[in-house]
Amino acid sequence: MVATMKAAVLHALKTPLKIENVPVPEPGHGDLLIKVTACGVCHSDLHAVDGDWTPPPVIPLIPGHEVAGRIVKLGAGVSGFAVGDHVGVPWMYSSCGTCEFCLAGMETICKSAEATGYTKPGGYAEYLVAPAAFVGRLPDDADPFALAPILCAGVTTYRGLKRTGARPGQWVTILGIGGLGHIAVQYAKAMGLRVAAVDVSNEKLALAKSLGAEVLVNGAETDAVAAVQEKIGGSHAAVVTAVASKAFEQAILMLRPGGTVAYIGLPGGKADEIRTSISAITNWELSVRGSNVGTRQDLNEAIAFATNGLVKATIRTVKLDAVNDVFDEMRKGKIVGRVVIDMT
Ligand SMILES: [Zn+2]
Ligand SMILES: [Zn+2]
Repeated sequence: MVATMKAAVLHALKTPLKIENVPVPEPGHGDLLIKVTACGVCHSDLHAVDGDWTPPPVIPLIPGHEVAGRIVKLGAGVSGFAVGDHVGVPWMYSSCGTCEFCLAGMETICKSAEATGYTKPGGYAEYLVAPAAFVGRLPDDADPFALAPILCAGVTTYRGLKRTGARPGQWVTILGIGGLGHIAVQYAKAMGLRVAAVDVSNEKLALAKSLGAEVLVNGAETDAVAAVQEKIGGSHAAVVTAVASKAFEQAILMLRPGGTVAYIGLPGGKADEIRTSISAITNWELSVRGSNVGTRQDLNEAIAFATNGLVKATIRTVKLDAVNDVFDEMRKGKIVGRVVIDMT
């Protein structure tokens, strides 16, 4: 008899997840079987469910890519891990390891990469399988609920900040203070940057202020570009985590000459286009860079910041059965911080 587990499964795009019993997966060569303790709910999970991106996810799908848990079984050929080890599974399920990008330490742009909770089953389940070579090691005594958001929101914002090239003492503007943005503010502070926060919610801006943002701009109440230029003379760097394309347009114009913006948000669908000023980019030598989750090294660094107490996600826990309600809240932009599913 095959053992079964509880999981939240997507059977058709744009439909609610169904909570059902499915077989517990078997770890293949090089894989770990992990018992999930906590799994964060990322906005990307909602994009997956709604089919906002091309190509769409592999269906039926178990979403979830901020997974913290314990190893319960080792696949053949695994070394360096033991049953009981505390591990985290990020969006980057695997990459090919041999292409020009993987060889250059840019596995985030490997064309053969697989994605947890998108092309491979994710963590909205009691168990999942993941390749040992790509999981993050978590300290044995670390709080899995606090660390789950670091596995996507953490590593993604951390790499985004790194890719702006901003140096300590410089200004970074964080656009969108949601699940990613409130963590971006903390990484920026921990990296010695000064932070301006832009959002359309005063509640989210208050959270940014409590985390160390010095300048707060409500884009619904004021011209956000003018405000950033006026208050700090433009930003050396900007990181866009927002889900509205307008924020991506504004971020370029918030830069000071020579500035760099990193895009880490993915509005998807019809919002996947921007209009910008070519002359602003040319004349002021601005840089627009993409940043796609993070490498394993980024993940290790991001986890270290969090386990040293420098970055802490604001979380609320729910049970798996509540996941469709969480998606509804997310659609309305009502979530402050991160929701984490408690699988215990
Ligand atoms: Zn994510
Ligand atoms: Zn590759």
